[in-house]
Amino acid sequence: MNQPKRPSFPARLGPPSAQNAVRPVVRPAGNAAPRSAAPMPAPRGVGLDSAAVRSRMVQRLAASGISSAAVLQAMGSVERHLFVDTALVNQAYEDTSLPIGLAQTISKPSVVARMIELLLGAEGARGGLGRVLEIGTGCGYQAAVLGRVAREVYSIERLRGLHEKARNNLRPLRLTNVHLIFGDGMVGYAQGAPYAGIIAAAGGDAVPAAWCDQLAVGGRLVAPMVQSNGQQILLVIDKTPYGFNETVLEAVNFVPLKSGIA
Ligand code: SAH
Repeated sequence: MNQPKRPSFPARLGPPSAQNAVRPVVRPAGNAAPRSAAPMPAPRGVGLDSAAVRSRMVQRLAASGISSAAVLQAMGSVERHLFVDTALVNQAYEDTSLPIGLAQTISKPSVVARMIELLLGAEGARGGLGRVLEIGTGCGYQAAVLGRVAREVYSIERLRGLHEKARNNLRPLRLTNVHLIFGDGMVGYAQGAPYAGIIAAAGGDAVPAAWCDQLAVGGRLVAPMVQSNGQQILLVIDKTPYGFNETVLEAVNFVPLKSGIA
């Protein structure tokens, strides 16, 4: 609860480059403010309005190959600037990971979109997922996006400070289908199982057995994983009636999966 108060977006002024993009505010004749007047309200409009900035982010995601309408819609509707610290608000819609405290980061939008698109898989076409487990709530951003594409989201975080931060970030959004749990995600969250999807936001060097157990048959797991050569890659595991199918995808760079709580 001791978070600094967030500014409404747009933040009261971005870096010089952002400010340069602001067109001068034209005041109607007869409304000219004297020089000593109170500061003008932050200008709104193209270039600064959060919906417009977000829709440009969505356009970039689509251009870079995200094709699921459900994912693009979800990315367009969750206000990422509400999940980052005040000083970083003007970078909220850039394709970059950002620090969220306690040496952790919020993933960049393209990675969030890519992983959720993978999670939806063929089900995406059939209009949404059932129950989803997210390991690594962080600031709660991805949980909010997941909440738009899944019926129920269980998101578990091992750091109490971040679990509470996510709680504070998500409270005003009133997403009744997003459930935050403080605990060690290495053991999954049996109470919500079986899951149609499991998504990890931290990379370990093996897939915990609990995740495979808690995945429904027909379900899919998407997780960063460190390979024997030390490189972290994105791994997709499908649980079929006949066993697990693993697919290794592109290299990624996630914070480490750790055990225990802190
Ligand atoms: N999805 C998050 C990204 C957070 S970064 C967001 O949108 O902000 C990954 C998070 O995984 C970190 O907060 C880290 O503390 C958490 N984490 C690492 N190992 C974990 C574990 N075993 N159980 C739960 N959370 C874990």
